[in-house]
Amino acid sequence: MNDKRRRGVSRREFIKTAIVIAAASLSSKLAVDATGSSGGEGGAGKYYEFFVLEDNDDRLEYYSMLGLVIEKNGRKCVANPLLPGKCMAYTKPYEEDRFELLPPGAREDFYSRCVRCGLCYFACSYMGYHAISLVDERGGLRRMGTPVVGDVMYRPCTLCMECTKVCPTGALEEVPREEAGMGVALIDPDLCWAWNSGDCKSCAKACPFGSEVFEFTFTEWGIHTRVRPDKCTGCGLCVSACPIEGSAIHVLPRKVYEERTRNYKNTGMSYEEYLRLIQETEEKDPFKATWRTAINTDYIQNVRGFIEEKLETKKDSTYKQGETSNSSVAL
Ligand code: SF4
Ligand code: SF4
Ligand code: SF4
Repeated sequence: MNDKRRRGVSRREFIKTAIVIAAASLSSKLAVDATGSSGGEGGAGKYYEFFVLEDNDDRLEYYSMLGLVIEKNGRKCVANPLLPGKCMAYTKPYEEDRFELLPPGAREDFYSRCVRCGLCYFACSYMGYHAISLVDERGGLRRMGTPVVGDVMYRPCTLCMECTKVCPTGALEEVPREEAGMGVALIDPDLCWAWNSGDCKSCAKACPFGSEVFEFTFTEWGIHTRVRPDKCTGCGLCVSACPIEGSAIHVLPRKVYEERTRNYKNTGMSYEEYLRLIQETEEKDPFKATWRTAINTDYIQNVRGFIEEKLETKKDSTYKQGETSNSSVAL
């Protein structure tokens, strides 16, 4: 048996066994630090929650046995096998990581141009999309009445661009839909099914630009999917398509995206470096990589939740392992 095949088989069996053991040993409801305020690694709670283990949790015993438990601020969490001393951290669910985006074509001087007339809001409602809402008094007097795309999970922007046509002050510019510029989608590779040996292209299939925006690398560890930040409009159609509860792909305003990807998950690494670390570990240390996948799969399936009906795949992919594609054929 060649080395590659042996690794692939043992990895699958390993994950399968690990999950079976975990599922069998865990009947109790799992405790998760949904507030992200504890389990804490200096400020990580702002965007992330940890895989926290409670003292009476059977899972604690299981991960302790494997030497994968660390203690942070008096709470125990599952360790990230790729990063010594760090807890596994996951992007919080959508409801806790949701942003008010400016509507399509918002100029840099949007706030000084927008007179809060609400015409874009009416145009969007008239089209039946209801993507734009107006900031209410809870947003403060200064922002009250400002149009925002505030809930892309349930009311994404379809990029019809009607709102830009009715804006009387040019606060929203009539730009091609590719330049809508509302935000950038970011995939959490630890939550994404495709990054954890699953077959999923749900987000890419929902995206109006498909593989112009998405890039796939097909590996024996799954489909490593990326969003090209320079091409993404922030419409949010991908967010609700994701089968992970709370979505593994979130749209962020560009500034937040830049901040978050600069020091991803407070690891001191950029997003790109973090992805590279995952891929290098898969190539050089399949044992560690297997644990990463097994932990994430456990978290996705048994803690966060997975909505099977949303899963979109293409089983008859024409792509071979190791091949990278951003061609539309992949969809
Ligand atoms: S482009 Fe269409 S769907 Fe999107 S915010 Fe404007 S009017 Fe609404
Ligand atoms: S990746 Fe998501 S937010 Fe970006 S253009 Fe595609 S569907 Fe819209
Ligand atoms: S839909 Fe979600 S799980 Fe599937 S590839 Fe996209 S981010 Fe990953």
